[in-house]
Amino acid sequence: MYNTYLIKYGEIGLKGSNRHVFEDALAKQIMRALRRISGEFSVRKERGRVYVNCAGDWDEEETVSALAHVFGIVGICPVYEFPAGSYEELEQHMLEYVAGEYAGSHASFKVKAKRVDKEFPKNSMEVSADLGGAILTHFPDMRVDVHNPEILFDVEIRDRTYIYSKVIPGPGGMPVGSNGSAMLCLSGGIDSPVAGWMIAKRGVTIDAVYFHAPPYTSDRAKEKVVDLAKKVAEYAGPIRLRVVNFTDIQLAIYDNCPHEELTIIMRRYMMRIAEHFAKKNGNLGIITGESIGQVASQTMQSLITTNAVCEMPVYRPLIGFDKSEIVEIAQKIGTYETSILPFEDCCTIFVAKHPVTKPIPEIIERSEGKLKGMIEELVAAAIDTAELIKVE
Ligand code: ATP
Ligand code: MG
Repeated sequence: MYNTYLIKYGEIGLKGSNRHVFEDALAKQIMRALRRISGEFSVRKERGRVYVNCAGDWDEEETVSALAHVFGIVGICPVYEFPAGSYEELEQHMLEYVAGEYAGSHASFKVKAKRVDKEFPKNSMEVSADLGGAILTHFPDMRVDVHNPEILFDVEIRDRTYIYSKVIPGPGGMPVGSNGSAMLCLSGGIDSPVAGWMIAKRGVTIDAVYFHAPPYTSDRAKEKVVDLAKKVAEYAGPIRLRVVNFTDIQLAIYDNCPHEELTIIMRRYMMRIAEHFAKKNGNLGIITGESIGQVASQTMQSLITTNAVCEMPVYRPLIGFDKSEIVEIAQKIGTYETSILPFEDCCTIFVAKHPVTKPIPEIIERSEGKLKGMIEELVAAAIDTAELIKVE
């Protein structure tokens, strides 16, 4: 019945003179998503509208699913599109459309026509009324309800004519590539993939860093993180994932610092190294999955202490979220099942029984002083030996 999708975008429509920049970013992301599936697609931008034309060997379900992963899209409307002609031709097409999509339906409906082409002989109100009447005549089981219709037929008369009545929700947000890039600290847990997804949703390109500690953490734990990065990449586009061997740093901390401070000191070294790579990449911020009070290392005092080693802004999109709210998003975006696989995390190996919950930065700095003379070399080595994985 149709071979076009009308793409509804949300906030981009509020942009002023630089709106085309966002539309271009959206078009680019749409093409990226569709490149992975079979079919021949093209994106057409036209006076505040974005259309996707489908040809060749394309599958409806696959196409909609790909589009549902593109940030910036709030609605995906399958559109019946045909060349503009007379009113009689339009009515004929309308009836074909209803027969094709709603044969046997008893639903209430409303027709909302919009005449953009002022040459068309009837105005918007007349087209709506006349098409409504024609539908009632040919489909007597349907009825009109102008206030709360079950089906809303949108009809747009432009240089071509468009009919649609279904809006499949998109993920919302802003197109990736419209807003700089950031470095995600990606662990194998539930939170950090969600945090990365949330920042990507605002149009930010994502890079990532994972700290592993072989042999304390296995290759499977690393594979799990790569899999999580892939899931995030389905929305965010390609991710450059750096895998940093953190073992020697962790052992040095373990051997030299008070055990109740292990986690917080470890987190500080993670942030320092993450920032190093972020600067190297030209990222404009660091992202973590932290949420106030979730664990000892995420009390407000702990957050101050880890934050203190970073010059760049640290974005914590989950800061006010309960675990159950984070889990809900993880399930929705498809990272949850991977996140709960039981592979050990490098932080759980070296955890103290009673970690500090109110660390004082000066005291932590004094403890870190005990690492002087060895840690610099270990950090440099961790940076030098980091593995770069390009996740598509
Ligand atoms: P997650 O938040 O992913 O479930 P977590 O709950 O175990 O991990 P913490 O260990 O307190 O939380 O870590 C807080 C944040 O620090 C994580 O959300 C993540 O951004 C970052 N982080 C923790 N461990 C690692 C790691 N091994 N590699 C990269 N980043 C990490
Ligand atoms: Mg967490």
